[in-house]
Amino acid sequence: MAENSKIEWTDHTVNFWWGCSKVSPACAHCYAEGQAARFHAGLWGPDGERRVRVEAARREAMRYERRAVAEGRRFRVFTNSMSDFFEDRRDLDGARLEALDVIRQTPHLDWLILTKRPEKIRDLLRNAMADAMDAGREDLATWIDAWDFGRPAPANVWLGTTVEDQERADLRIPVLLVVPAAVRFLSCEPLLGPVDLTSLDASGELDALRGTFDDGGLDTPIIRGPKLDWVICGGESGPHARPMHPDWARSLRDQCAAAGVPFLFKQWGEWIHSPDGVCRPGCDLRLFPDLHATFDKVGKKAAGRLLDGVEHNGYPEVARG
Ligand code: SF4
Repeated sequence: MAENSKIEWTDHTVNFWWGCSKVSPACAHCYAEGQAARFHAGLWGPDGERRVRVEAARREAMRYERRAVAEGRRFRVFTNSMSDFFEDRRDLDGARLEALDVIRQTPHLDWLILTKRPEKIRDLLRNAMADAMDAGREDLATWIDAWDFGRPAPANVWLGTTVEDQERADLRIPVLLVVPAAVRFLSCEPLLGPVDLTSLDASGELDALRGTFDDGGLDTPIIRGPKLDWVICGGESGPHARPMHPDWARSLRDQCAAAGVPFLFKQWGEWIHSPDGVCRPGCDLRLFPDLHATFDKVGKKAAGRLLDGVEHNGYPEVARG
């Protein structure tokens, strides 16, 4: 059971800083922005401050690490639920370096780093490596360097990116796939359109699920044949939630099943599809012309997390040497 998170797929969250900038349609109703505004104004947008809390995060992480060791288990830790770990700002470089040091020193925690900026990962890791070298922190620099070149990637880092529609799939997945990681995953939440993971590039040669991928000259020294290890899918929650068509979720489920990739269906969100246009008492029924469908606003709890009557709770298996 999560100690400080209601997110189904994680045990804990640890935030090294709060604050972020919006980068894509999935950010429109950013939950973290709303939460942050309750406690601290001015943390959002390119000109906003970032509230760094590295030492508190280190203490939290070390506590979870000690518990994992004592209980002989691993915990999944969602990293920076209140920000984006790979936001490219110089005022975050120091905090990011310390966060990497914490991750390095907690091998019994699986750190799930979910970003909407996967194109920044390698450059920011390389910056962090250079900063660690300059600071004489050789062990940390060596660890980051090994990650960058996959010699090996840290066994306790799961790297993911958000894919809310096909445009984001085409942009983000190829750059995620070139970064070495123990697990690479997608969060298709809030899912805002259909996504085909089996032919991502214009020529249809990138099958992100089966790993038939040539790096096409990208700077990929080690990786050949990468693929995604896990797909999470969910609809949007919150007062301004947008509906998710069931066919979009079904398609992801079926693509994952065909490729043997674990699939987790997290939630419908606020809306459920109403194929016969029937509104339950007290609910809000709306026609969404763009989706050619009718949806009933029943709330996240009532909408639940069954897809065609089935709970999907797939998780990746991580081989450990
Ligand atoms: S990247 Fe994440 S934290 Fe940042 S604005 Fe978008 S949804 Fe919010």
